[in-house]
Amino acid sequence: MNHKHPHYPHLFEPLDLGFTTLQNRILMGSMHTGLEEEKNGFKKLARYYRERADGEVGLIVTGGVAPNRAGWVFPFSSRLASKAQVPKHRIVTDLVHETGTKICLQILHSGRYGYHPFCVAPSAIRAPINRFRPKALSEKGVRSTIDDFARCAELTRLAGYDGVEIMGSEGYLINQFIAEKTNRRSDRWGGDFTRRSRLPTEIVQAVRGRVGDDFIIIFRLSMLDLVKGGSSWDQVVTLAKSIEKAGATIINTGIGWHEARVPTIATMVPRATFTWVTGQLKHEVGLPLVATNRINMPDEAERALAERRCDMVSMARPFLADPHWVSKTRLGKIQDINTCIGCNQACLDHIFSKQTASCLVNPRACRELEAPVVMAQVSKSIAVVGGGPAGLACSCAAAERGHRVTLFEKESEIGGQFLLAANIPGKEEFTETLRYFKAQLGKLQVKVKLQTVPSVEALVAYDEIVIATGVRPRELRIEGSDHHKVISYQELISGQQEAGKKVAVIGAGGIGFDAASYLLHEPDSRPDPDKFMAEWGIDRDYRGSGGICAAVEAEPLREVFLLQRKTTKPGATLGKTTGWIHRSMLKRNGVKFLVGVRYLSIDDRGLKIEQQGETKTLEVDTVVVCAGQESQIELASRLDEAEISYHLIGGARKAAEVDAKRAIFEAFELADAM
Ligand code: NAP
Ligand code: SF4
Repeated sequence: MNHKHPHYPHLFEPLDLGFTTLQNRILMGSMHTGLEEEKNGFKKLARYYRERADGEVGLIVTGGVAPNRAGWVFPFSSRLASKAQVPKHRIVTDLVHETGTKICLQILHSGRYGYHPFCVAPSAIRAPINRFRPKALSEKGVRSTIDDFARCAELTRLAGYDGVEIMGSEGYLINQFIAEKTNRRSDRWGGDFTRRSRLPTEIVQAVRGRVGDDFIIIFRLSMLDLVKGGSSWDQVVTLAKSIEKAGATIINTGIGWHEARVPTIATMVPRATFTWVTGQLKHEVGLPLVATNRINMPDEAERALAERRCDMVSMARPFLADPHWVSKTRLGKIQDINTCIGCNQACLDHIFSKQTASCLVNPRACRELEAPVVMAQVSKSIAVVGGGPAGLACSCAAAERGHRVTLFEKESEIGGQFLLAANIPGKEEFTETLRYFKAQLGKLQVKVKLQTVPSVEALVAYDEIVIATGVRPRELRIEGSDHHKVISYQELISGQQEAGKKVAVIGAGGIGFDAASYLLHEPDSRPDPDKFMAEWGIDRDYRGSGGICAAVEAEPLREVFLLQRKTTKPGATLGKTTGWIHRSMLKRNGVKFLVGVRYLSIDDRGLKIEQQGETKTLEVDTVVVCAGQESQIELASRLDEAEISYHLIGGARKAAEVDAKRAIFEAFELADAM
């Protein structure tokens, strides 16, 4: 008998696909990790997927695998084109199939996004995000590409997978054939929409013909291209219907081409913003549909299913953050979910800089073999001083290993820099990380002593001392820097000080950008999908092609100048995959970027600066100092004087360019070594 889950009845309803049944409605979305190309990487990959399968996810879709050399995402990226490559995939499927989870391999042909000289496309039009110009496929080339998809699917079956996902979205090869903007062919593969969409339909037919009826075929369909010259809504529907007819089992949602200038997965995208588009297609086709993008907590996932917008929900990054997301949800342990905050810092930013993916909030991700939780042989008493990201992560990781941990925090609340980050509009997800840590501190019986700075004498009693006292804002040292107009970013973002209508922000690093963003918005503005879509020109009514329209005019709260001394592009240190979003948001709100600036003085008139040999005064009401940080190491110095050894982590160890990713990683490394 099928008992409904008391809180998440839709999430935990099995999905019967006719020839096989998925244990729940949760799909782990495709995500390249970098392990695919590492030597012996498949053993690590198998462990990585197995941990998510142990966490009870219904269906896993692997990272993209090319069906041939031209389809590589980058040189020598993973490919499945011959029998010799099958055994390494077997390691993955065998380990996953010891559980109730199913696993599909994603077949991804990158087309003109392929970062290599062999890339091909419907037409020889270079992508704006790639320096390699593709070769236009010949008719014979198109035929053999279809055959390569079918061959890859056949090998996938041989490797023990339960199915494939055919990547038809995000602006990759199939999407390039569908869109007029990238397909200028005049043969049977180009021209009107029917001919442009022939490739995806024939690929699905060819794959179905080769793998038989009892094999899952997911088609990832671009439901919202978010580029000019993309599909219209009618075309999306027409294609979905022909994909259904061609023999697909499930249709997954694709949102936005990689070259689209609209954020689709970054943290400022409100949760579940794009589920409406999948919901719109629900009325048109009979196949199960999967909703995607910025679904990271159970309530949003359940709501999308309950409102019949979809039949499954896909999450990719949330499974890096927490492999046990599903089992925790099933058991009602929502407080214990380590939530993906959408920062991209350790996942996509790593992949785009050729490093193995991991996760800012879970540095064990993709390191399941190298860095498992191992119980300590001797349970030690450990004092951790500082309740910011480093101290919190170290306390929890050490306690999880069986140590007895006491955490000292000088403020009345734990969180440190996370408390500030959570106040930035579009960074509200940081409150989830704080909720998670608070729950873990309780569960792991860490003794938390708030408003307490321990004495050296008190610390000596512990077996190990960890100093994670973090950073303090660097003070500005120019004439008038003690003027009442001058405030620190901490004072601004914590709400201790209010800024006037015209503001100069000194320092254009991550915090300068955050402070500018804070100044432009109402402090209590909450994530609002409709507002977000209007601001970024996403057309819910799908009046034109690609689902885009003109963005609404910004109504900034203040006039903001963002300054730096360097002459380089402001925000050069921001994340690889998110920096452009911050820059374009500030520009749209009229922020004036000034580079190559020398700060001279501050007085009642404002901030006096020199730029290109010219002296001028910015007549501002407030000057916010975001000039980096310095380590807070007073306690560490006292321990040095007393010749007591300790461990130093996070910003207290090195303030330059410290961020939560490094702080948490160092915390885990230390906790594992103690
Ligand atoms: P940061 O990135 O080092 O930037 C500090 C800024 O202050 C620089 O723009 C620097 O530019 C300026 N500066 C340095 N010394 C100065 C001085 N004596 N007088 C005037 N200006 C000075 O540090 P942050 O902005 O404080 O950020 C700290 C860390 O948090 C960084 O690693 C950052 O990546 C991370 N973070 C990231 C994000 C994100 O969105 N990913 C958001 C917040 C923070 P000039 O020397 O050219 O003037
Ligand atoms: Fe999510 Fe950030 Fe972790 Fe990536 S690094 S999975 S975006 S929390």
